[in-house]
Amino acid sequence: MSADGRADAARILETDRRHVWRPYTAHDEWLSAPDPPVVSRAEGPYLYTVDGRRLIDGVGSWWVSALGHNHPRVVAAIGEQLGRMAHVALAGLAHEPAALLAERLVAVVPPGLERVFYSDNGSTAVEVAIRAAFQYWRQNGRPERRLFVSLSGAYHGDTIGTFSVGGIDTFHATFADLLFETLRAPSPATTWYEDAFARVEALLDERANEVAAVVVEPLVQGAAGMLMYPPEYLRALRGLCDRHDVFLIADEVFVGFGRTGTLFACEQAGITPDFLCLSKGLTGGALPFAATVVTERVFEGFRGERGRMFHYGHSYCGNPLGASAALAVLDAFAHDDVLGHAAVLAGRIEAWVGRMRTVAGVSDARRTGTIAAVQLGGASDYDASVGWRVYAEAMRRGAYVRPLGNVSYLVPALTMPVAVLDELLEIAGESVERALR
Ligand SMILES: *Cc1c(COP(=O)(O)O)cnc(C)c1O
Repeated sequence: MSADGRADAARILETDRRHVWRPYTAHDEWLSAPDPPVVSRAEGPYLYTVDGRRLIDGVGSWWVSALGHNHPRVVAAIGEQLGRMAHVALAGLAHEPAALLAERLVAVVPPGLERVFYSDNGSTAVEVAIRAAFQYWRQNGRPERRLFVSLSGAYHGDTIGTFSVGGIDTFHATFADLLFETLRAPSPATTWYEDAFARVEALLDERANEVAAVVVEPLVQGAAGMLMYPPEYLRALRGLCDRHDVFLIADEVFVGFGRTGTLFACEQAGITPDFLCLSKGLTGGALPFAATVVTERVFEGFRGERGRMFHYGHSYCGNPLGASAALAVLDAFAHDDVLGHAAVLAGRIEAWVGRMRTVAGVSDARRTGTIAAVQLGGASDYDASVGWRVYAEAMRRGAYVRPLGNVSYLVPALTMPVAVLDELLEIAGESVERALR
């Protein structure tokens, strides 16, 4: 890096704008927008830019950075593992990180989940569950069970399979012809959960014989705009799935690893899903890595003759670096009282959410665990500009608070020092007030 950070930033941005195609980005806007920060280092709650600015990461870098950036335990574990072996196939070979992590995961997930299938990211964690649920029924006497039930507003990933069970219409229209048929149930976050439950109950009472699984984001529907619902719905849904012998897939890719106040959101409902999908916080946001944890019953459904094996696998299944990072994350939760600290943060966030409810133009403010959301104005619209005004105001004040349409939200690292959280809340509050003025 040269001494002149501004020149560095300009050079990087020029190259980026010429060659990089960014995710979910309208490039005509991007190319004419003010220069974005160019980040060269990230540590704890902070992002450091090439031209010498320090930003508080208010959204955990698209929700992955659950323990803050470059957590010392995670960095050390990856470094140590890298010195020995970066990657080796899980096909026909075994290695310690994958074996140990499976044992450690099984010990902390809800009871009854016994087997771990590894993949690369959040989408594949859910894709694994969908494919396994489908194949299970096909070869275990109920091939007519081939449909999935998902919630309106759901987001389960960006592959064709996970997109098919997603329920965000603005994202979906483009690919509608490519997606498989999915039964949709109302979101318990946008209507009384009792009513939402009555609807999914009626749906399963009528069509359970065709249904392979119900897939949900427990407690918080992230991409829909941090929509939140009570654990009672989840508990009732587990009972309903049991009654009809339909699988329940819990997509905890976002909410897992402490975001909702407990290690896993399902714990608050006291339930065990048949499939638990984990990614994002699994490595503290350090590496793309995922696990789908299933019951012994599911695993047993793939035993027997050769053709019954699960027809699925990725090159980087069980990657030793990812598994080592995940082991370090579990160490942090076990030894550093991460959840205790998160509870302190949650208390301060709750007070802030209460204040935000009184701001003119805020139609709702809500919190689950350390996830906070402020609804700006009317109904959710992904392209709404008010969220981007909050973003710009917060950026000027030193925080990265990327919105979901007209929802401004905070997903701070669970390890964020209290003083930094207070500064973030102050910046976010001021930015919301300013943007709505
Ligand atoms: C982010 C997310 C995914 C997809 O994860 P990727 O790593 O982006 O593929 C799936 N489900 C939920 C609930 C998510 O928040």
